[in-house]
Amino acid sequence: MADTNVGRVAGKVAFITGAARGQGREHAIRLAEEGADIIAVDVCDDIEGLGYPMATDDDLADTARFVEKSGRRIVTAKADVRDVDSLRAALERGVAELGAVDIVVANAGISGTPAPAAMIEQSAWQTMLDINLTGVWHTVKAALPHMTNGGGSIILVSSMLGLRGGGYMAHYASAKHAVVGLMHSLANELAPQWIRVNSIHPGNIRTPMLDNEQFIRTLRPDLADPTLDDAAQIIGSFHMLPQPLIEPRAVSNAILFLASDEAQYITGAALPIDAGAVAKF
Ligand code: NAP
Repeated sequence: MADTNVGRVAGKVAFITGAARGQGREHAIRLAEEGADIIAVDVCDDIEGLGYPMATDDDLADTARFVEKSGRRIVTAKADVRDVDSLRAALERGVAELGAVDIVVANAGISGTPAPAAMIEQSAWQTMLDINLTGVWHTVKAALPHMTNGGGSIILVSSMLGLRGGGYMAHYASAKHAVVGLMHSLANELAPQWIRVNSIHPGNIRTPMLDNEQFIRTLRPDLADPTLDDAAQIIGSFHMLPQPLIEPRAVSNAILFLASDEAQYITGAALPIDAGAVAKF
């Protein structure tokens, strides 16, 4: 039967970490809508020391259902980006079923507990670097041997705090800045193989990373029962455009562009999707 798969990334295979919920799930759905098959991993477990609830097995299963609804295939696996062997095992299974990897989205990350830089617990600092920096390196390291289609696109998920500082988030901002160094290095190394490497820098995105009690109460101690939209009145001032929270789909659309051949000459770029936060005075 003829392959009727059409779309901006038709016939490609995308490997996405942190895909059980939030932005990672939306990236999986968006890329599938445009014709990609998906290898989706997530730790689906609590991370020690984090004060907000994490994703579950059911969340990852929901991501799979959403992708399949668009008619594409998906292989899911529980894997922790701190454990490169668990990523390798997930990829081996995914590639055996779907074929070689064309697109990598290193999205898994944590926000950590806000604190003044000198007060951050040693273990919290280490966990942040292990997941938000080393986890990104592991993701690329595990995926590269499977990028055998003569090119590809790797997208490293940083943050607006990867391009500017942010109070009480020194561990997060340090890891996210370091992701840019990794991106520039990989872009140089992999260009001869036509593998493009870029980073994206989201602003305030409406996901469970922000939409949780710890984050909301830290920002709005003045209210008895604050919501994310109350908290957004504070963090909205980071953005230049009058839009305090950005929907995950806006980030997915940027990922889709960078993953597609429309971006064939874009590599080594750091792209903010932040309503102007990085450039704001
Ligand atoms: P989210 O809803 O918390 O999603 C993050 C996902 O990553 C979760 O499913 C989480 O799984 C997974 N994850 C965390 N640690 C992992 C590990 N060690 N191994 C594998 N998976 C792991 O947050 P999000 O907003 O979608 O965040 C996605 C990315 O965007 C992150 O890198 C984040 O730093 C970045 N970002 C977010 C914002 C924002 O405003 N939301 C802004 C800028 C950048 P568990 O829950 O099971 O641990």
